[in-house]
Amino acid sequence: MVSLRTIALLLLATFALAMSAKPQTGAPTPLLEPVPGGMTRVVDLSYAINDKLVPWPGDTRVFETKVNASMEKDGYFTRSFWMLEHYGTHLDAPAHFAPGKSTVEQIGVERLFGPAVVIDVQSESAKDPDYRLSTERIAGWEKQHGKIPEHAIVLLRTGWASRWPDVAKYRNQDAQGKMHFPGYSVEAAKLLIERHVNGLGCDTLSIDYGASGDFAVHHLVLGEDLYQLENLANLSELPETGAFLMVAPIKLEGGSGGPARVFAFLP
Ligand SMILES: [Zn+2]
Repeated sequence: MVSLRTIALLLLATFALAMSAKPQTGAPTPLLEPVPGGMTRVVDLSYAINDKLVPWPGDTRVFETKVNASMEKDGYFTRSFWMLEHYGTHLDAPAHFAPGKSTVEQIGVERLFGPAVVIDVQSESAKDPDYRLSTERIAGWEKQHGKIPEHAIVLLRTGWASRWPDVAKYRNQDAQGKMHFPGYSVEAAKLLIERHVNGLGCDTLSIDYGASGDFAVHHLVLGEDLYQLENLANLSELPETGAFLMVAPIKLEGGSGGPARVFAFLP
């Protein structure tokens, strides 16, 4: 016969085991181990969202709001809004181009934190709007700052943000409608994937350069289950190394991507 006392003890042990498997509030989490101490400043790398941002060509309905309750009528204020998943500062989830890969809410929280690696290609981009980040340029960065660390979030600083939110200047379309802005090359993306980075970001409309017809970098990077950050703001305020990033995309179930708040912590 199993006594009541034994059953009670067994239940208690099961409960204790279940509780210990769950992260507990206040307990140390390995997630925060890489966050360096001594950070004194935070830079917001996101643009505020309104209906005047630069959409992808062909996207006509981009962002709308409606007042649902007003102070005058209801004594409180609420709105509803509608927007594209890929508009303004946003995250591309792997599922955007890679069927079966993570949708936006499935990206592991630990992958949304990481040291920022800023690769400055402003002079190259000013000379050639079709510039694509080369592996040589990455080698140059590594010679100066050391090997790109695992879990880094790489940010391509092209200077294109100075054109934001001027649609014509930011898209830089030619007579045929083809866009001309810089981006990553496939070879550079391959090298960064080998470095085990968490994601790639840029201060343009797309990780692929504007004239791309096949979105080869999108296919490659998202296919590896990494994420992308597009239309980043204020990259000019970041050092090439030493900043730490926190990426906070909307936790939209099943989303191909979504608006993201991106914070850079600086020493
Ligand atoms: Zn996108």
